Parts: sequence; C-alpha cells; structure tokens
Amino acid sequence: MHVNHTQQHARIARFLRDVLDPARILDRVALDTEHWAVGGEPVPFSAAREAAYSPFVVGSPWGSAWDTVWFRIRGTVPASWQGSGAIELLVDLGYTDRLPGFQAEGTVYTTDGHIVKGLEPLNRHAPVTTTGAIEYYIEAAANPNIADGFQFRATTLGRKETAGDAPLYVARSFDVVLRDHALSALWWDATTLFDLAQQLPDESVRRARILESLSRVVDVFDASNPRGGVDAARAVLAPELVAPAAASAHTAIAVGHAHLDSAWLWPTRETVRKFARTLSNVLDLINEYEDFRFVASSAQQYAWVEENYPELFARVKRAVAAGRIVPIGNMWVESDATMIGGESMIRQFAQGTRYFANAFGVTSNIVWLPDSFGFSGALPQIFRGVGATGFVTQKLSWGDTNRMPHHTFAWEGIDGTRILTHFPPVDSYMSDLGAADLARAERQFAEKSISSQSIVPFGWGDGGGGPTRDMIEGGRRKSTLEGSPKVVFGTPAEFFETVRRELVDPPVWSGEMYLELHRGVFTTQVRTKQGNRRSEALLHEAELWAATAAVRAGAAYPHAELDVAWQLTLLNQFHDILPGTAIGWVHEEAERAHARVASIAHGIIESSLRALTGDGDRELVAHPTPRGPRGFSIIEPDPRAPVEVMSEPDGGATLRSEQLLVRLNANGEITSLIDREQGRELLVPGVPAAALQLFHDRPSQWDAWDIEEHYRRTPIALDDDATVDVVGTTVEVDRVVGDSRASLRWSLSGDGSSLELDITVDWREDEKLLKIAFPVGLLADRTAAETQFGHVWRSVHTNTSWEAARYESVAHRWVYVEEPGQGIVIANASSYGWDTKRVVVDGRGVGTQLRATLLRAPRFPDPLADRAEQRFRLSLRPVTHVGGAVAEGYRLSRPVRPLRGASSVEPLVQVSEGSVVVETLKLADDGSGDLIVRLYESEGRASSATLTVDVPWESARRVDLLERDIEGEAVIRSRAGVPLSVRPFEIVTVRILTAC
Ligand SMILES: [Zn+2]
Repeated sequence: MHVNHTQQHARIARFLRDVLDPARILDRVALDTEHWAVGGEPVPFSAAREAAYSPFVVGSPWGSAWDTVWFRIRGTVPASWQGSGAIELLVDLGYTDRLPGFQAEGTVYTTDGHIVKGLEPLNRHAPVTTTGAIEYYIEAAANPNIADGFQFRATTLGRKETAGDAPLYVARSFDVVLRDHALSALWWDATTLFDLAQQLPDESVRRARILESLSRVVDVFDASNPRGGVDAARAVLAPELVAPAAASAHTAIAVGHAHLDSAWLWPTRETVRKFARTLSNVLDLINEYEDFRFVASSAQQYAWVEENYPELFARVKRAVAAGRIVPIGNMWVESDATMIGGESMIRQFAQGTRYFANAFGVTSNIVWLPDSFGFSGALPQIFRGVGATGFVTQKLSWGDTNRMPHHTFAWEGIDGTRILTHFPPVDSYMSDLGAADLARAERQFAEKSISSQSIVPFGWGDGGGGPTRDMIEGGRRKSTLEGSPKVVFGTPAEFFETVRRELVDPPVWSGEMYLELHRGVFTTQVRTKQGNRRSEALLHEAELWAATAAVRAGAAYPHAELDVAWQLTLLNQFHDILPGTAIGWVHEEAERAHARVASIAHGIIESSLRALTGDGDRELVAHPTPRGPRGFSIIEPDPRAPVEVMSEPDGGATLRSEQLLVRLNANGEITSLIDREQGRELLVPGVPAAALQLFHDRPSQWDAWDIEEHYRRTPIALDDDATVDVVGTTVEVDRVVGDSRASLRWSLSGDGSSLELDITVDWREDEKLLKIAFPVGLLADRTAAETQFGHVWRSVHTNTSWEAARYESVAHRWVYVEEPGQGIVIANASSYGWDTKRVVVDGRGVGTQLRATLLRAPRFPDPLADRAEQRFRLSLRPVTHVGGAVAEGYRLSRPVRPLRGASSVEPLVQVSEGSVVVETLKLADDGSGDLIVRLYESEGRASSATLTVDVPWESARRVDLLERDIEGEAVIRSRAGVPLSVRPFEIVTVRILTAC
C-alpha cells in the first residue's frame, strides 16, 4: 500500500492547527474595554473598583515593567448562546506562546470582588456563568519577560529603578465566546492520538493505524459545517481510543502541581498574586473534573493568600477539606537544602507543619523539594525526625556529568537513617502530560524491572499557573491507551503506598546528593548568604538567652517576635533567594529582611541578658557557643594571651603566640605556619598560603548559578605590589586585585590559638571569580566539610567521574584536613563555596589545598550582583582531630558578646561528653514553658553523655524534632541528669519540665 507518510503527517498537523482548533469557537463578541493603570505597587480589588477608568482600544500597548493595569470589560452575551455550549471570556493580553509565568498574567474578578480565574499565556479563558449583560475586572500584571527564552542576557528589568517605563505588552483581545463541547472533545481525541503517534516507532502497527484514522477524520470533516460532522469524526477515532494499554505498561501517577518559586525573576509580592491566580485556576478545574487533585507546598504561600485573599482562601480550605487540594511538604518554603543550617531546616518543618495543622487541619508525610540545588547528607535524619516517610525531588536529573543510578530508592544519610526517595524519571516538575513526557518517564525509569509506577508532576510551573484542561483531557484519554503508559491521577502519598508494597528491598544511595550543576550558588550574592548566616546565629542566641532568662529570671518568652524573625529567615532561604539566583529586587529585599531579623534578635538578646545579669557595671561576656569549658555562660572576659606582631626587613611580618608562629611575605601571603605545640611546619615548603586568585568566570549558561570547570584554565595574573604594615597586633595588607582593591587584616585570636583573617574587597569586576587558596602540608585522601548536624568527607583526588564533577562544593562553618594526630581547620563566617586539590612539589613536599570561593560577578539575572564592598572573615587553627574543627567553627561564627551587668550566670544546661553538642536551647513551641534542648553527636562516633540542667526539674523525655512525644520513650526523673546514648551524628531533642 502506498502511503506518503510525510504528506500524511503534514496534512493532519495542518488540519488540527488551521481547521479544528478555531472551529471549536462557534461565535464571539468583542467586549467594551476600559483601563486604569495603577502606576505603582498592586492595590486590592476594592481600591481598583473605585478608580477612574478610561476607554481602551484593543491593539494598544499597556503596562510598563512591574506596573499593574486594571481592565474593566462589559458586554452582552447573545441570548441564542444559552444551552449551546460553554460561554467563556477569551483574553489575550499580548502573550508570546512561551512558558507561562515569565510574562504578563491576569486575574479575572467579578464586580463584587470574587476571583474567577487566572489568565495566562497557555490558559487564556475564564468561565462566564451569567447571561445577558456581563461585567468583569481584570487585574493585569505587566511582569517583564526577564528569562527571554533563557539566553542569559544582562537586563535592567530586574530592579524597578532601572526597568524603564515603556509599555511592554499589546493587548490583542477581550472577547466573550461560545465554545462547542463536542468539537472540543474531538480536538482532545485527535490531539491525544496525534501526539501519541509521534512517540511510536515509525514501523509500528499502532502508529500506522492512528495516522490512518486521523487522515480519515480530515477526509470526513466539513469545515463549513463543523457541528454537522463532529459525531462521525469522533466515531472514526473511537476504536483507536478504546484500545487498551499493554499489560506491562508503566503507570504514571499524574500529580497536579504548579511549581511556584517564592521569588526568582519576580519579587515575593508577585508570588502572592501568582499563587492566587494558580489556585483560582485549580478551583476552576476542580469544578469541572471530579478526578482532578492538586498538590501545593509552602505554608508561606498559603499564608499570603489567607492574608490577601480571604474569600479565595475560604474556597481553598473547602477544597483541602474535600481532599482536592493537597498541601504537601510541611515546609515554610521549598528551601535551599545544602547551605541552610540544621536548625533552620528543622524550623522550615516546624513552621510549615504548624501552619498546615492550624489552617487546614492536615499534615503531609512527604518532603517535596522538586527544584532545590542538591541535598545534604543530613537530610534523611531530619526528614524522618519531623515525621516524613517519603521524599520527592527531580533536580538531580539536571546534572552535567553522571546520571543518578536510581529513581525509587532508599536514601541513607550520614547517620545511617534511610528515607524512601523518588526522582520522577519524567525529568520534569512541570510536565504537560504529553506523550513525549510519558514515554520518557517509562523509558528512563531505572527500577522498571521491579516497580510499576512513577510520579509525573504536571502543570505549568516555576512562575505558577498549574494544570490546564488540555492536560487533564489528554491524561484522561491515556488512562489505558495502547502505546502509552497508563495515566492515573493521584497523589505522592498514594504513590509511596504502592511503592512500599512493591519495593520491599529498594536500592540504596548513601550520603549527600550533589547536584552536578549550579556550582556557583554557594557564592553568588554573598550579602544574602551572610545575612542568612547572621540571622541563624542571632536567632540561636536570642532563643538561648530568652529561654535562660525565662527559666532563671521569670522573663516572658517572646514567642511571637521569634516567629516573625524565623519566618523572615525561612522565606529568604528559598531555593532562588539564598543561592543568589534571583533578580536584584529580590536580593535587596532579602538584605532588608535580614536587617529586620537582626533588629528583632538584638532586642531579644539585650533584654534577656539584662534580665539575667541585672543592672551593674561589671565587665562580662556572654558565651553563645556550646563547645569549650565555658558553655552557655555569662562570665568575666578571659585575659588575652600574649602575642607578638612585628614587621620584617623583607617587607613581610611575623605573628607569634605560645601556640603559633606565622610568617607573611611582602605580598601579605603566609610562607610559614608553625604549630609550636607540635613543633610542626604546616605549609608545603615554597608554596605560600592565603594567595588571592582571580579567574575569568564565563559560564556557558545560567550565569548566577554556574561555575564551570574551565575557569581553572583562565587565571588572571595579579600585580605583586602589596603594602604590608603592622598596626598594633594586626598585620594590614592592601593590594590591587584586577580592577578591585583588597585589604587583608591578619591577627591572632584572644587565646592565641587561631590565625584570623578579615578581608575587605571593593569588588569592581565583571564575570570574574575570586578565590583564596590555603595549600597546607598535610597529605590526605579526603577533607571534611561541615554540613547540618555533622560533616561529610569528600575525596581530594578525582579518580572517578563522580569525584571529578565535584569541583566546587559546599561547607557550612568549616573545612578540615588531617594526617593522623595533626589536622588544620579553616573556619569561615561568611560564605559557603570551596574546592580542594592535591599539591605536589617534586622532591620537596606534598599537601592538600583548601580554597575558599569569595566572590563572583555574574551578569544574569542581576547585572549588579555583588559589585560593592564585601567583607569576609576566616580563621586557621591547627587541631588534633575533627572535634577541634567543630569547636573552631562555633567560635568564629558565634562570637562572644561583651556586656555590663551585676552578676555572672552559669550555663543552664551542660553535656558531659565532648563530642555531643547542644545546638539549640529554647522554650517549647507549644507555649507550655517546657525547656527544649537539641543536641547532636558532632564527630561521627557513638557517645554516651549526661545532660545536666542547672535548675530544679521534674522530668525529661526525648521528643521528635517537632517536639512531639515519641512512642515508647521513657520519662526520666533522675537527679543525676539525663543520660543520653547517642549514635554517630544522631540528633537528639529533649523536653524538660522544669520545676521553676
Ligand atoms: Zn524553583
């Protein structure tokens, strides 16, 4: 049989596009349109309704960047349409066909302020439920298209001051239309089959039969009388649509979703509106499709809707109660998962879980982080500790080197805890449920021989929008369809239930899940990162002293203020804010939020310390760090150890204490670092440490996100014209670095044991990378980096592609390298990016280089990112084992606080064993007044310890990370303290009922 396949395919495609698509709209009436430009930040509907509107001519431009234009549309629905089909608004604000969420969007309101639905590029309709005269308002957001097809061009649109005031969009239509149900059904039948055919092998019977049937539809369809032939056309396709899926076909659990970045290429205030638009789209679909359900994460986003759109929120609550909208993840936002501190990660869940329970009476046992940029090895324990039993992410499929070997597996953390984890093999968190996505999911699914299902999250995302009726109609037709995976609308919880039955012994991935991409996110927008680090430390201090003051002095515990400060901190840990990948507007807001957190925390700390020490003039210091003999005490300051700092004739300088002897050369770099207690030189002979290194940094894409390995081949030679001066006990080094200037201030710590370095850089580069390298004379296969509640060891060598791909990685407060009995820690109070490598000087020495990444200067999405004066603080300290690194990290990141008062204060709690650390001391979230002590084993070895409490107490018991009872845990009433037997890296939370 002769078939011209190319022509057949082209004929069907053209029929669908040019004939059937427009034929679905039987009639349309253009509406009278007026408009009012807000000329500033968004206003509520009540204000917009009272504004003075002027006529708007369709085809005119509207909307300067970030402005809002309200349209008032009026007209009459013809009486003859009644009962003849679906009556809908059809609005084109001037969209491109590109992804929704990155351009203009609208919200349709009735005249009494009820939100009807969102209007978005691939979802332009809204239902009209009245007849006769109609009137609606459309709140149109002129969000600029910053992504612009992701060509990563520098743009001025990301800050309002530089965005300009030219209108960005030309509105094309404001119509009311009559859409035919049967022709719509034919459209979905035909497009589902045509889409499927394109995924089938050329030679397959199924493909040939589908294309033949579609050709016959083209034959029989009469464009001059579309309604007349529609039943016959559907009958032609019916046999193809009832052919069932293969018995072994993969099952796609289609989960309705709208990934919505809490801020990214838009500020948080736009996310508030984006979530309202998304939820109104979802409620419209819930009305129409009884099997449709939708999952959405992020308590913060629901809280925004609750505050700004109470009527919409009431409808959402009803949909949650009916099980149609499923809050998922229990987190405040979908946070970064590599840089945020352990306590922050717990608070993401504490605040999120509490909100879901209070607002909806629900909880989720699935952690949902589809888009975060890598996952620390501490997370399995934290996830299980907050009650989660499953974890879903998709992001690792973006890796540029290796493929993760599993899609459904047990993920094992640094402490051995495991959690069932799923990477949707569809490799997308915003599928359209099309045949290509479903085929990819089935093809790639690594566990296909032993498991039948995978999750396919569907619905437009990143900028919200969510599922559309096209997706649902297509998905329904694929519930069992020959040649396609089966589509079942479901939830992640249902998926995990099946998986637990199918996979009794799942494969295991152990340790951190490093994203082999976006390696620059540990560095970019350093002020946002420093603000986060500072907020975490200050909130620790605020809770510590407020709890101590409550127990010891009867002070009121500031629950509400702490909630405000925590929620601000948690929001700015969102996975495009803390990583530094948002527009300039977002990062300016993050700096303001962190300043507010600091102000709240300082207020709490000062009033708590005053309550504890009383009014007086004694010189005291408050110790907020758990390590060392002082504990959480307020005592007189230790005398400073004697140090000697002097200039050298060669232009360099020397710093000397009882423990350290440090020589700097005329360039301000370290040429010798001697641990005087061990009598050992810690540098590689002839290789100076603390050299600043400047590189070209031009990633091929994703500028703010990516450091690519080729930067190492493009160092920029720096002038050797530093000045080195001794001022008191500080060595001051000033030098030019490219077009920037750097000052380095070297000094010894108060106890003489650490070499401290304060760096100021006036950063004036474009597309450059600044590092500071510390090659040390210790031969090691691996280095340790602090993570949440513990540390990870990473290879120094690059024998495998996995090791080679990890050329830039994250550390919290410290990195550490050791030979047996001798180690060195470099602590960092400022940023998160590091790399390591072997140093070999033939015949003279070997060592290991630890190199901190200080600054980048990407051009997209914020062309001004980091170009300002920036400050960094690091320290080097010789230690004998990893416990010394833990202590130095705390010392540098949580400095003692000087104050004046009447009396000293003993620590409220202490632990007997050195490797068990009290991370957090606070009062219970439930307002009971119980004391909560969170501890962890910090060195990776099992320990027995005793927690003592320096006030009378009634009882103590271990609780989970959310301070809830654990079944079977004994209540301890021993006077001798709380005995703790702790696994390596185990996190322990103890609730103490005090007798005060
Ligand atoms: Zn995202």
